[in-house]
Amino acid sequence: MTKQYDYELIAIGAGSGGLSVAERAASYGAKCAVIEKGKLGGTCVNVGCVPKKIMWFGAGLAHALDDASDYGFAVERKGFDWAHLIEKREGYIRGINNWYRNYLADSNIQSIAGFAKFIDAHTLDVDGKKITANRIVVSPGTKPMVPDIKGAEHGITSDGFFELVQQPQRVAIVGSGYIAVELACLLNGLGTEVSLYLRREHILRSFDNMLRETLLEQMLDDGVDIFPRTQLAEVRKKADGKLCLVDAKGHCNDEFDQLIWAIGREPNTAGMQLDAAGIKTDGEGFITTDLFQKTSVDNIFALGDVTGRAPLTPVAIAAARRLADRLYNNQTNRHLDYQNIPTVVFSHPPIGTVGLTEEEARAQHGDAVKIYSTRFTAMYNSMTEHKVQTAMKLVCIGPQEKVIGCHIIGPGADEMLQGFAVAVRMGATKKDFDDTVAIHPSSAEELVTMR
Ligand code: NDP
Repeated sequence: MTKQYDYELIAIGAGSGGLSVAERAASYGAKCAVIEKGKLGGTCVNVGCVPKKIMWFGAGLAHALDDASDYGFAVERKGFDWAHLIEKREGYIRGINNWYRNYLADSNIQSIAGFAKFIDAHTLDVDGKKITANRIVVSPGTKPMVPDIKGAEHGITSDGFFELVQQPQRVAIVGSGYIAVELACLLNGLGTEVSLYLRREHILRSFDNMLRETLLEQMLDDGVDIFPRTQLAEVRKKADGKLCLVDAKGHCNDEFDQLIWAIGREPNTAGMQLDAAGIKTDGEGFITTDLFQKTSVDNIFALGDVTGRAPLTPVAIAAARRLADRLYNNQTNRHLDYQNIPTVVFSHPPIGTVGLTEEEARAQHGDAVKIYSTRFTAMYNSMTEHKVQTAMKLVCIGPQEKVIGCHIIGPGADEMLQGFAVAVRMGATKKDFDDTVAIHPSSAEELVTMR
């Protein structure tokens, strides 16, 4: 770093990407700062993965309590204290925020509270104060979208969901992706009546058809009302506070305590004056980067959801660490390979998926594709009245039957996938799967015994 800059590297946004790049760069001796207008940890820690997973555990426990009598326990569910769980959850998150605060201080990374906007490619204005850096990493994340219809402001988003201090009794969720499905399943598990409104036919449209069909069936069996091909025209708030969703014909369909918009997320860059530095974005406002996370400006990089590529926490972390390795540890070609990124949907049951879906594989490789699949009731559920399906699919290509897709839905799929993702990334073939000795009795063994 030449002396004229305050810092060698500044990350704007102290979420998964920003914190990780600063941490790794500082470990190589770079003088770093992170600028954050909200809480340390970003979306994942404060209003995303972490609080969601705690709610997911809670809903899983509700299912387990219902199953307990099938295993001979005289257990009765006597209500559920939402406020208790929320208080504990928020305490846990405060602990993570504090941990980050101490960690940054111990690592000599300056934590600057405030909103950063660009003055030029090396200079930021943070609430009126000028700060300069040799390199700047833009990692402000995304924020939930709200549709442009009358009364949309009566609904909340996932951010608002994590602020609910009382359990809603009847909830409408609009959307069909990760957030819609995860919130629908966990609220349903915790005893809220849930109606899910899709604008098209399917949930999780980009997922393998086996996954989305199995989950759809399970959600319907578990009592989630699902309304495909629904276009909402308006949201009306009644005098008693109930919300009614008005369709294109002007019919008020039903009444709800809460409406949650889960229709996707948009880049969190409003007011950052990206233009002042010459940073280019795509048609939807996501910052465009090359393979090495470099933006259209040589000394400015972008990481995480704001790039619009695989908006997942571990992706932001992985890209951030590789960027710092490249910039400050002479690992000249180090960058994240965005192929074969495993992902889990924390539905009930969860989905774990990596690689190409069957549809994608057939479109790319035609008749060279061979599919192995299975569907069964896991041993745990063969004892329970509440039936949960497990389904698995391997997508293979060529005479070697290289596994290019692995899709799992069922209890344990979330934990099962990580190891199989290693195998897929290493180019494992069906024979490698078959030659691996099964773990018995388990659901995972089906993946190495499929015929
Ligand atoms: P997603 O992109 O997953 O899904 C949003 C979907 O909502 C769209 O694909 C679209 O599906 C539908 N939609 C869009 N506009 C409307 C509309 N006006 N009315 C009704 N439906 C609409 O977004 P999410 O907000 O769920 O999640 C954002 C990202 O966050 C995810 O892509 C994921 O990467 C990440 N995430 C990851 C999680 C995990 O790892 N477990 C958990 C939560 C989020 P269609 O076109 O089919 O109608």
